[in-house]
Amino acid sequence: MKKSRVYLDANATYGGLLPNYGLLPSDLEFLGNPNSQHQDGQRARALIEDARESVRALINAPHSRSSIVFTSGATESNNGALFSPFLEASEPLVPSSAVIVSSTVEHPAVLEPLKKIQKSGRDHTLVAPEPNGELSLESILSAVSESTRVVSLMLANNESGVVSNIRQISHAVKAKNPHVFFHCDGVQAVGKIPVDFQSLGIDALSISGHKFGAAPGVGALVLREESDFHPLVLGGSQEHRLRGGTENVLGIISLGRTASFLEKNFNEHFDALERGRKKLAEQLQSEIPALRFNFSGCQRLPNTLSVSFEGVYANDLVVALDLLGVSISAGSACSSGKPLGSAVLRAYGFSEEQARQTVRLSVRSDLTDDEIERAVKAFQTAVFRMRESAKRVA
Ligand code: PLP
Repeated sequence: MKKSRVYLDANATYGGLLPNYGLLPSDLEFLGNPNSQHQDGQRARALIEDARESVRALINAPHSRSSIVFTSGATESNNGALFSPFLEASEPLVPSSAVIVSSTVEHPAVLEPLKKIQKSGRDHTLVAPEPNGELSLESILSAVSESTRVVSLMLANNESGVVSNIRQISHAVKAKNPHVFFHCDGVQAVGKIPVDFQSLGIDALSISGHKFGAAPGVGALVLREESDFHPLVLGGSQEHRLRGGTENVLGIISLGRTASFLEKNFNEHFDALERGRKKLAEQLQSEIPALRFNFSGCQRLPNTLSVSFEGVYANDLVVALDLLGVSISAGSACSSGKPLGSAVLRAYGFSEEQARQTVRLSVRSDLTDDEIERAVKAFQTAVFRMRESAKRVA
């Protein structure tokens, strides 16, 4: 079926990778409470445990059942991982030393918890990326000290698409301070590049279903050693006492089925994402003058482009393209519409003007040539009109 709109905002939310978010009509019929003893409940329990196995297989998580804790999404997973080491901390506070090391380009779901934790006297250091967009191992290591309890770094950035070498960083950090709890926000990486939890050498990984094609409102926190984890959401004994509250059964089923599909079809999926991004970039480059692709020298997600159009404001371009049937964003969905341009791009060292002229395009694996052609025509129309009207005003 030909879609009337072209969707280039997969990093905001992927949309269903499988029809109906991987839920079969029969799943939508009655399911009991997965914590009940009767058969209706146990049917739901079995579906949850199947999903846990599928998520485990996709990211090679540890085998113990409680290493995957289902959550309401990555915001909760990140909050849980960051607050956990301090929930039952008994050691005295040393207010002058930073106990958390993270980066300036993390998502608000990391930066906001850090601000809150800081109010309890536990300070943090945020490492800035290098001018080319990469995080330098040396800068991270020099921020880590004896007093560091937590390091939290993302695997792939939601706006630039830059992928960090977390494996190398985590091993070097642990060699310097073996007591560090290493958390990684893997939201934009899982489902787009191969992610192997066990070889990353980390203690916790946050994942989010809607970023790789499952239903919104479900995610997981993956733990190397669940005994290290103090739960943030207290209540019933669900999720092996690591996250209270009745499970989002349909969300979890969707997460599991999508993970299973991706595991089986990963290479094709990856190739399709990369092909779509490359083709879109080539056609934009050949049809539109005065544009610049950012972060091209870095290891990047296969589906993400950061593009600056000279003389065109990103927020206006998002609206103009929307009216022409193309969905893009001026940064992360959380920071879109900010008049100074994306805070993340500013943290990468972009000037205010550059940040305001930069958009993020992120493709799905089913992007067709016809859609690319229609999107590029829409870009041509919008960019041409906006540059013309800027000339008239000047
Ligand atoms: N971390 C990153 C890198 C993200 O891109 C997002 C979503 O935009 C989140 C965390 C939050 O994920 P969720 O929507 O599942 O809470």
